[in-house]
Amino acid sequence: MDGSDTQTALAIPAPERTTIEIRGASARFPVRRIYCVGRNYVAHVEEMGGSTDRDPPIFFQKPTDAVVPSGETIPYAPMTEDFHFEVELVMAIAKGGRNISEASALEHVWGYGVGIDMTRRDIQGNNKPWEIGKSFDKSFPVGALSPVSEVGHITSGAIKLTVNGETKQESDISLLIWKLPEIIARLSEYFELQPGDVILTGTPHGVGPVVPGDKIHCTIDGLAPLDVAIGPKLV
Ligand code: MN
Repeated sequence: MDGSDTQTALAIPAPERTTIEIRGASARFPVRRIYCVGRNYVAHVEEMGGSTDRDPPIFFQKPTDAVVPSGETIPYAPMTEDFHFEVELVMAIAKGGRNISEASALEHVWGYGVGIDMTRRDIQGNNKPWEIGKSFDKSFPVGALSPVSEVGHITSGAIKLTVNGETKQESDISLLIWKLPEIIARLSEYFELQPGDVILTGTPHGVGPVVPGDKIHCTIDGLAPLDVAIGPKLV
């Protein structure tokens, strides 16, 4: 598709393919699509003022070039006065499919990582499209991925985010409303999953704003940590 193995002539240089670092390896994980799940921890749904009924999961996407590796500084995003962090468990998919069963869903997962769903909270609003609130440049800092062969499946364990050393988000992966196999099963009813797809699984409570100069540190038990700093506002 990128023409690299054919003689396809390109009118402009091909856009760079997004990849994510793999912990302890030189190979990288190639990214096809980035899916996100909204409202997937009860305490976060409550803090956002939503219903805690077990509604169907909310899905949206981020562009692949939203990816930012650990250790970088991202700009305070333009067109917002309320730029928020949301730490999330990230699943990386190696085997595609449609209408995947919950029983076989985890066989599709290649590995796991720690990510942040950076959000323009003032633009996200309940009755507005989430696109410009969620799916913008550099809105997905993500740490190195770890393969299932090394860390197993991440179904429980602490998930935590600090800003300048102060704990802001602290919860447990076991508190996900829609568990990992359910996310994969439901998502694959709407979209055909493909190798290279990445899924953010939702954020726990404690989301909040950052300001230029802040340093964010995120951890999930067993996975590579994620660090990102907030730079000056992009104008
Ligand atoms: Mn989120």
